[in-house]
Amino acid sequence: MSGTAQIGVTGLAVMGRNLARNFARHGYTVAVHNRSYAKTESLVTEHGSDGEFIPAKSMADFVASLERPRKVVVMVKAGGPTDAVIDELIPLLEEGDIVVDAGNAHFPDTIRREAALKEHGLHFVGTGVSGGEEGALNGPSIMPGGTPESYKSLGPILEDISAKVDGVPCCTYVGSDGAGHFVKMVHNGIEYADMQLIAEAYDLLRQGLGATAAEIGEIFAQWNTGDLESFLIEITADVLQHVDAETGKAFVDIVLDQAEQKGTGRWTVQNGLDVGVPITGIAEATFARSLSGSVPQRTAGRAALPAHAQEWEVSKDDASRAAFIEDVRLALYASKVVAYSQGFDQIAAAAAEYDWAIDRGAMARIWRGGCIIRARFLNRITEAYERDQDLPLLLADPYFTDAVASGLPAWRRIVAGAAQNGVPAPAFSSSLSYYDGVRAERLPAALVQAQRDFFGAHTYKRVDREGTFHTEWSGDRTEAEA
Ligand code: NAP
Repeated sequence: MSGTAQIGVTGLAVMGRNLARNFARHGYTVAVHNRSYAKTESLVTEHGSDGEFIPAKSMADFVASLERPRKVVVMVKAGGPTDAVIDELIPLLEEGDIVVDAGNAHFPDTIRREAALKEHGLHFVGTGVSGGEEGALNGPSIMPGGTPESYKSLGPILEDISAKVDGVPCCTYVGSDGAGHFVKMVHNGIEYADMQLIAEAYDLLRQGLGATAAEIGEIFAQWNTGDLESFLIEITADVLQHVDAETGKAFVDIVLDQAEQKGTGRWTVQNGLDVGVPITGIAEATFARSLSGSVPQRTAGRAALPAHAQEWEVSKDDASRAAFIEDVRLALYASKVVAYSQGFDQIAAAAAEYDWAIDRGAMARIWRGGCIIRARFLNRITEAYERDQDLPLLLADPYFTDAVASGLPAWRRIVAGAAQNGVPAPAFSSSLSYYDGVRAERLPAALVQAQRDFFGAHTYKRVDREGTFHTEWSGDRTEAEA
């Protein structure tokens, strides 16, 4: 039996409810279902005017209300609940139907689920959705994986409800099986790096200038009119100027300085290690959150560890202050380019590892709107990959090379200043180290390789001829080809 709904959403908490409303507002008839009926009922009662909803109490009724091939969006808690819902759906669906997991699944789970549903003749589309509840309602950035065939019928609907920038949808086919959820994971990792870099810039300005949170908020608002223009800079300006109603203090000063995480940053770092890509910006950002929450260690460190640092005092005259602010801005921009460059490297390495054909320029394009890292700067990344789709290093694209090079002296001054003055700036400094590492003629890795051969006979290659060699370190130190 076939129904009339063009798309269905099961799981009607904040995200599913808003996605369903977004579909309805775009003129689709939407079948809606939730494990507990109360959420379905309240959606239809409160937002029935958004469009055409077909509410269902049971999963069977929900599936029956969909036209074929059925398109079912699952928007439930990631992990076990997603598997439970899929298991309930499988016997109710027919060959060619499409199950879309729009939750925050870990991409290996998506690969597993896609293979399992293929056995039943079903399409499984792991889809990254970014933009939070506001984005889900008004236009998120959407990153669908799965089969190209499923995208033919599903893609136009997803593109329709996605955010648009210059009339271009922030949704495109990413790649097979887990590619969509993978790219969403890297998006979140980059989001971690971006947030940490902004937080470090704030701290440097606060300690260097002795400025108030509100004054720094104004600096961020000013930065948001230039190259750094982005959602995260915009909300930072807003947050820093917000005053706590209860105490009259700057809001940021009454918030406990322990950052939490739900795990996507950790997944990104774990995968960076798996595919061997140094995503140091994302890793430092993730570890910085861990350090902030390391309460016993911080208590012990505060009590015992001397700073032997200077008090950071930028001279009070306007010109010195303006120069310092500009230095921090340039250092922030350069560090941000590094973090994105590393994230796009990770996408390329994973695409090779998992056999995905991912167009990195298209990923930057669909992140321009709807998602948390939406930014003007992403246009530049798209252009870089349009110039060279196999670009081995985003930093080496002429636009980014020039942009970073012009800020290099400032970047070095800020990182050196942070070290001298005892201000932690892990993401700023590791990004600069990465920059110097990736451009170095020769790295001390040669010594590491020699050490490895010394204690473990792990062999080495020579700079002057082909082959693999081992030196008899404990014997007569002759060299033999391994
Ligand atoms: P959520 O709190 O993650 O999940 C609640 C929903 O899952 C409810 O509809 C709940 O049904 C259902 N559920 C839980 N266990 C279930 C089970 N065993 N069987 C059937 N249904 C079950 O909701 P959310 O915040 O809207 O997020 C939904 C998904 O989107 C998650 O994967 C999340 O990670 C992802 N996501 C969230 C955001 C965000 O900003 N919140 C952004 C992007 C992606 P009941 O009402 O019956 O309990």
